[in-house]
Amino acid sequence: MASGDGIQIPSRLPLLLSHEGVLLPGSTVRFTVDSPRNMHLVSQRLLKGTSLKSTIIGVIPNTRDPGHDTDDLPNLHKIGTAGIAVQVVGSNWPKPHYTLLITGLCRFSVSTLLKERPFVLAEVEQLDKLEHYTTPVTEGATAKGGELGELSHKFYQAAVQLLGLLDMSVPVVAKFRRLLDSLPRETLPDVVASMIRTSNKEKLQVLDALTLEERFKKALPMLTRQIEGLTLLQKTRKINPEKEKRVLSVRKGGALPDRRFNLEEEAEDEDGDDTAVLEKKVHAAKMPEAALRVCLKELKRLKKMPQSMPEFFLTRNYLDLMVELPWSKSTKDCLDIQAARTLLDNDHYAMDKLKRRVLEYLAVRQLKASLKGPILCFVGPPGVGKTSVGRSIARTLGREFHRIALGGVCDQSDIRGHRRTYVGSMPGRIVNGLKTVGVNNPVILLDEVDKLGKSLQGDPAAALLEVLDPEQNHSFTDHYLNVAFDLSQVLFIATANTTATIPPALLDRMEVLQVPGYTQEEKVEIAHRHLIPNQLEQHGLTPQQLHIPQDSTQDIISSYTREAGVRSLERKFGAICRAVAVKIAEGHRVTAADASTSERPALQGDKAAPPEMPIVIDHVALKDILGPPLFEMEVSERLTLPGVAVGLAWTPLGGEILFVEASRTEGEGQLTLTGQLGDVMKESAHLAISWLRANAKTYQLTNMGGGPDPLEGTDIHLHFPAGAVTKDGPSAGVTIVTCLASLFSGRLVRSDVAMTGEITLRGLVLPVGGIKDKVLAAHRAGVKRVILPKRNQKDLEELPANVTADLDFVIAANLDEVLNAAFDGGFPGIASSHTQPQLTSKL
Ligand code: ADP
Repeated sequence: MASGDGIQIPSRLPLLLSHEGVLLPGSTVRFTVDSPRNMHLVSQRLLKGTSLKSTIIGVIPNTRDPGHDTDDLPNLHKIGTAGIAVQVVGSNWPKPHYTLLITGLCRFSVSTLLKERPFVLAEVEQLDKLEHYTTPVTEGATAKGGELGELSHKFYQAAVQLLGLLDMSVPVVAKFRRLLDSLPRETLPDVVASMIRTSNKEKLQVLDALTLEERFKKALPMLTRQIEGLTLLQKTRKINPEKEKRVLSVRKGGALPDRRFNLEEEAEDEDGDDTAVLEKKVHAAKMPEAALRVCLKELKRLKKMPQSMPEFFLTRNYLDLMVELPWSKSTKDCLDIQAARTLLDNDHYAMDKLKRRVLEYLAVRQLKASLKGPILCFVGPPGVGKTSVGRSIARTLGREFHRIALGGVCDQSDIRGHRRTYVGSMPGRIVNGLKTVGVNNPVILLDEVDKLGKSLQGDPAAALLEVLDPEQNHSFTDHYLNVAFDLSQVLFIATANTTATIPPALLDRMEVLQVPGYTQEEKVEIAHRHLIPNQLEQHGLTPQQLHIPQDSTQDIISSYTREAGVRSLERKFGAICRAVAVKIAEGHRVTAADASTSERPALQGDKAAPPEMPIVIDHVALKDILGPPLFEMEVSERLTLPGVAVGLAWTPLGGEILFVEASRTEGEGQLTLTGQLGDVMKESAHLAISWLRANAKTYQLTNMGGGPDPLEGTDIHLHFPAGAVTKDGPSAGVTIVTCLASLFSGRLVRSDVAMTGEITLRGLVLPVGGIKDKVLAAHRAGVKRVILPKRNQKDLEELPANVTADLDFVIAANLDEVLNAAFDGGFPGIASSHTQPQLTSKL
């Protein structure tokens, strides 16, 4: 290899542009290659060549980011190393790349660049004259004489000293010891510099040192440093041959060792074993007085304990945790409201109300550092960005971020830890989180607080109270630690889907910020600004390879997802990216195979990509990838019979449209309700029937035989489809009335109307909650007219303008107005009914 006499490298060399590694003559380094130029070099030169000469390539180090070498060639380093590619392994996963094993031969300098594409080819001048390196070792020093001889002798001595510090029984060390004597000394700086722990920058210095003298001078301090480190390490421990083996290792297939010594890490390993070191750490952890006292006491016990006692390790683990906890380590807040606003805006589209409140919160924190403010709790359907806003807040503050998922947690020791008396006891999630992030002021996101469970093991919500209460949490005591830890610097943020299941005491500690679902237009924007670029990146694709037009996005939103947030939309984009990735990978393989069999000109086409780029996802492609549409605008189709009406319901997952169906048969006036209804809903149904019976005459409602009492000789069946879902709440009142009015009158309800509102026996319409989510659901489902209670009119202000523009809102104070708006051309009997409520209300 390097010492082979008379090796002459070709004067024209293809150049491999290396981003990370530096190859030195005499060492073997693994390179991962994925940029187009380097890929071409491998496929067209290395894989096709048949002679030994064709496996020699030049490696140019320190090239800035060859991954993005689109057109311009980056400024090339002038000096490189010619090397033989001894192994080439190709893979298509996660993206097409090759792994090369290259053994360095000699330095060269680049004289002229001959061509830049498809790979770089240059006229080079060989710098190390390999044939001169034939002097036997012992004579080499004397032959050169003077300063150089002295230097090389010194270097040789140092290398011997280094080996003396290592364990000779390890084969690798013994092999290197033999090599040291047989290698020409001129090659030692290169070989040694690539073996010991050196940074790429240092290796580059050795590479750039063209004269031997300079090379020795550059490499000697690195070698000395390594010797000093090793000596220091050996002082702190008795040499353990097992560990020593790990210190030096050699790459398989490489001629010479090229791994680094991991001195520092080894040293740390060893340190840990010593109780004296532990004691030092206890003192260095800057813990409060009380904790320190406990630690010292435990330490004293530990010293007296024999190692074989099980308790030894328990105490040891405890102390390890205590010293690792960030008692007084914190990050410095870097809060700039202007920057925070930009960052929040860049990370999240829409959500204006939430972002405004978050900025207010941050601004107040800036003015008053120790804010004992409320804990923010983001409440909204899944996938609307609650968690990711939490993450952005941590970023704007420059704080660490930790997420604790509380869904299904039903044991209070999950929060507060187990007492140490238990076998397998451990700290709770809060303390664990602090240990993970290593600072005492992270942003901790308590995800899904509404899904806390309860069990015999105590109520986790009660444990959370102590964590979240600003008055108490400066002395939060984890059962495992058994000493207080100050949580007052932690910024807690909670998320939930609904406030209904959050324990009231916990809710009381938090300020609820509603995060409603998105409109179709907002989703399109979010998709193109955030979701698609994210997914492309995650799948290793570029916009040049895959393009999803706005039309297709709209199609995906309306036909393949029905949700308030954007999570399943994101998953659909993921599915598209995967499908496209397969196409591209297949294309890659095909062209690569073509290239190897046919004599295609080198410049034709980019091998890493099939020719027809970008792949555009149109309606046909959509159907191919995602299958037939999952959802349809179903509202209008279902209202083709009397006795069907559309209501609006609120669920923790966002708003939904809800069909109410009614039918009647001959019978004895019985009412049957199906569809998993709660008590309140059943009452609404009875109320509706009573009101309709009372007003049957006014509205000309009849039974099956045409009689004036709709229930006489008639059985009624009311059904709320999707029977697997329990439904309850008063807001379906108006829908039931409308549905029954349609049944009793035989008239069709308008197919584009949806409604919500509670009813009273007197026919008044009362306000209900969740208007924004409900209206968004109606809009998603393609409804044109929405009937709302009068006292909910104020909620309309929160709706985006484009939604209000698309919908026709009818504000109803009583059932007359509801029925009038729900049927085409109004509902008969309205005129005469106007006087009636006034008469009865006097009673
Ligand atoms: P949640 O916690 O509300 O269930 P996530 O925070 O996990 O939802 O959000 C799901 C995904 O949707 C994330 O990838 C997030 O980046 C994205 N997302 C949600 N809302 C927005 C938005 N307004 N702008 C950009 N991305 C969003």
